[in-house]
Amino acid sequence: MVIHLTLLVALLSATLAGATPLPAGGGFVLDGFPRTLPQAETLARGLHERGQQLDAVLDFRMGDEQIVRRIVGRRVCTQCGATYNVKFSRPRVAGVCDSCGGTLSQRVDDREDVIVTRLETYRSQTAPLVEYYSQQGLLHVVDASADPDTVAAEVARIVASLDRSA
Ligand SMILES: [Zn+2]
Repeated sequence: MVIHLTLLVALLSATLAGATPLPAGGGFVLDGFPRTLPQAETLARGLHERGQQLDAVLDFRMGDEQIVRRIVGRRVCTQCGATYNVKFSRPRVAGVCDSCGGTLSQRVDDREDVIVTRLETYRSQTAPLVEYYSQQGLLHVVDASADPDTVAAEVARIVASLDRSA
């Protein structure tokens, strides 16, 4: 999806208003945004105008092969949106949602050829953000190849370590 910057600026307030609030002390979480340097710069300006700033940026890292393996196996319920994986978290009956009995299908975005293109887009457009946020001292690298509980614990540790009194 291409979002033009002028539209992005207009969407920014709405995005922040709708972002997931943190349990204590307020704040917000942006998931999968910004994805490009211009978006990051627009976000920084928008936050600055509101007297806000980012406390941290989490970079979830995983090797390409593992990314492809995980995403290619993903299946989504066409009725309730529940997510499964044919390798790691299978439904009780193949192709059928445990929760609602709906049909599971693979999103077009999750096909291997599309994933390869998404990885190329990541490298050309999103990867520069690592340097951008690293220079600002905001970047925290999370090893996303670990099991979900370990990744969740690491994220919780990083969030707990943030000095939110500033
Ligand atoms: Zn379902």
